Order: sequence, then structure tokens, then C-alpha cells
Amino acid sequence: MFICPICKEQLNKNEKSYYCINNHSFDIAKQGYVNLLPVNKKHSDNPGDSKDMVLSRRAFLESGNYDCFAEKLVDIINSNFTNSQKISIIDIGCGEGYYDGFLEKLKTNYDLFGFDISKEAVRFASAKYKKGNFAVGSCFNMPVASECFDLAINIFAPMVESETARVLKNGGYLIYAVPGKNHLMGLKELLYENVYENAEKHTEYAGFEFLERYTVKNEITVDGEMGVNLFKMTPYYFKTELGAEDKIRKNGGFTTEIHFDFLVYRKI
Ligand SMILES: [Zn+2]
Repeated sequence: MFICPICKEQLNKNEKSYYCINNHSFDIAKQGYVNLLPVNKKHSDNPGDSKDMVLSRRAFLESGNYDCFAEKLVDIINSNFTNSQKISIIDIGCGEGYYDGFLEKLKTNYDLFGFDISKEAVRFASAKYKKGNFAVGSCFNMPVASECFDLAINIFAPMVESETARVLKNGGYLIYAVPGKNHLMGLKELLYENVYENAEKHTEYAGFEFLERYTVKNEITVDGEMGVNLFKMTPYYFKTELGAEDKIRKNGGFTTEIHFDFLVYRKI
């Protein structure tokens, strides 16, 4: 399913590398992943989440605070696919693989491919979730072949509709998770003077039929350290002035609403 980032031909795999018909070759790292992000497409040496951010993400997610979202994802997939078929799944922006781990609860057999712009995240995903085939790659130039997947999962990654449509089979499903309007409001209230609700995302994308919205809301309370871990997963980490982490620790953490909307689409 992976394609060569240079010539776009299909990649074959041997023990140590992926290679294409034009002899472009990509080493398989010892954790099992492959880096398919062309050097000239990188905006920095190490794009995406740093190791420190990935460690925070993993610590937060493994605390179970977002398990309600992962369980819902599994439910949605189970309700759309009967267990007699084997399906191919692509996780767009897979991060450190937390949601991929939950796919083991699916009733149906599946092949799993995932990619992320962050090499550190992919390294962690690949080391832990052996069922998946993981690559470093970009949502804007997905490192997988066209019309190969029955299901694409996108949890808070950039939505690139043309690429997402390209990699799905006709009639394939997309599950796109977006933040609900008061998602992390408690964190925002702690950090900012003026807080705003998240804008509700529009649901129309070219090439897709919108099927359904599933809303999952909960309230969580996190201590200082877990609060900092959560903060470092969010876009606020990049936008907030220094001192935010101290503020969270001094406050002893926070209580917040968490809210994902899962938007379900079918490629038309
Ligand atoms: Zn090639």
C-alpha cells in the first residue's frame, strides 16, 4: 500500500527496506516503520511533534482520559462494517498510535496502515502497535497508493479532502474527529483572559457524502503533571506564552469538558 515518495510507484518490501521499480530504496527502522517523507518536503529537520511532546501525549492518552473517544471510534467502525469482510484502514496523522491500539477491539479483520509527519510519533507507534504498518509521511502528500482503503481515520489531523478521497476506494468511509465547541474549555479558562468556544466545523467536503455526526462529551479532572501533558498535545502549546505549564502545575491541574464530534462520510 505504501508508495515511493519520489516516483509514486508502488513499494515492495524485503527484510530491510522498501524499494520501488526505479530502485529508490527506504530503510526499515528497527521499530518497523519507514520514513517516506522526502527531504525536500520537510520544512524543518524534524517536523511534527518532538520526542518530548510524544512522551507527554502517550502519558496522557494512557491515563485513560480519552478512552471514551477511542471506544466510540471502535463502535462506529463496528456498526458500519460487518464482521465477514477484511477491511483496509489508513490512520491519517496516527500520532503515537493510541487509537490504533483500540482497533484490536474491532469485530472485523483488518489491515492497518498509519502515517504521521512526526518521526518520533511514528517510532513510538511502530514500537508498540505491531499490527500496524507505519510510515513517516505528510497528509498533503499521503505515502499510500490510490483507492486502496475501505476506511480512513482522521483524528484532529489536517483535512486534505483531495488526498483523502484519492486513497479511499469508491464507497469507502471516512471518520473525521473534530473538537466540539467546549472541548478543553477548563484548560482555556485557566490560561486565557478571554476564552472562546471552538467554531463548529462545516461538514461538507468535495467528493464525500456526509452521513452522520456522533457526539462524545465527558468531564475530566487532571492533576498538574497530567494537565501539562494534555496541554502539550494541544495547539495552545504553540500559541501560549511561557509560564503556562507553571500556571497549570501551581493550580494543581484543572477540570474540563472534553468533547469530540466524529463526522462520518462516504466517498462518492
Ligand atoms: Zn521510486
